[in-house]
Amino acid sequence: MTLFGDEALLPLRGENDLAGLELRARVSATVEQLSGLVDEDVQRLLQRVLALMNLPRLADADDHDLREILAELRICEQEGRRGYKKRLRRETRVERPVGIGRLPRPRWVKAAALAGACGLCGDAYGTGEMIGRAQLDPKLPHHYVPMGWLCWHCLVQRRQSPGRRDVLLRIFHGLFAHDGVGFNGHECAVLLKWLTTDAALTSSKPWTADPLETTLVRLRASAAEGKPVTWLSAQTVGTVVAVLQEPAAATVLTGQEEQLLAAVAQHLAEWGTNPAGVPRSRYGTGWRFRQRTLALTEHPTVLSRLGGPFFLFQCKVTALGALQDPDKP
Ligand SMILES: [Zn+2]
Repeated sequence: MTLFGDEALLPLRGENDLAGLELRARVSATVEQLSGLVDEDVQRLLQRVLALMNLPRLADADDHDLREILAELRICEQEGRRGYKKRLRRETRVERPVGIGRLPRPRWVKAAALAGACGLCGDAYGTGEMIGRAQLDPKLPHHYVPMGWLCWHCLVQRRQSPGRRDVLLRIFHGLFAHDGVGFNGHECAVLLKWLTTDAALTSSKPWTADPLETTLVRLRASAAEGKPVTWLSAQTVGTVVAVLQEPAAATVLTGQEEQLLAAVAQHLAEWGTNPAGVPRSRYGTGWRFRQRTLALTEHPTVLSRLGGPFFLFQCKVTALGALQDPDKP
């Protein structure tokens, strides 16, 4: 017997591993069970759940949403009548940076009910840590894959106080989705500092083959003026990654940064050499090909595990040169 005298309400073994239709059915069944337990109409309870996720219909929720909802519902069951309304109330206050580092308002923020890993950087987060999900932007090209639960840094801070890993993730997803990468002034400053770690880099093989002096000028100007976006072509970014792999540039790196740099370089190389023999006739030469190549990699990394391409947000500038509000795309 449980607190409520109903064994069926206990969190079930393996529930966290459910996916797809099975997960969706389990959420619907649990909403109904909870509705009986707390004596609230099923539709009204469902409205609370949808408001929490900031989604119009349950059909719009993906597995990441549904898993978290299921965990919430299970805690509601344990807390019973008194706790469930508080539990299913949306937290909307999010302090965000202003200016070129601002990201759109998150769709859902909450304290994690379960420990997990960030859907963008892969870092672990613990129970109770604030996490969130990004807005679904219907105007985005359809090939962008929604990111899972993000750690607070990736959700709110990554463009305002970027680290080298943020710049690497931007490079990876930029080249995954397009043929260039856009950086804001803060990200340009990080890249500039990295590329100028050691003067010896300018005589490295990749730099001599494709000199980066003009790129450094652009990065310096963008960092100094706080520009919202500076585009680098795929070729330039390829050279940048090759230079960053030089031993002289690696001395400043943490183990995590080294690992991510190696992963980015590995997947960029695979997109060039097609080791899995992905048929171009079927997958073309764009993001479909890159997505398939990534999925078939023989050396999985945090990047291939999380997939993509992800939209990491780009500042828009109005015709008058002002920065557009990221909440009004
Ligand atoms: Zn993260």
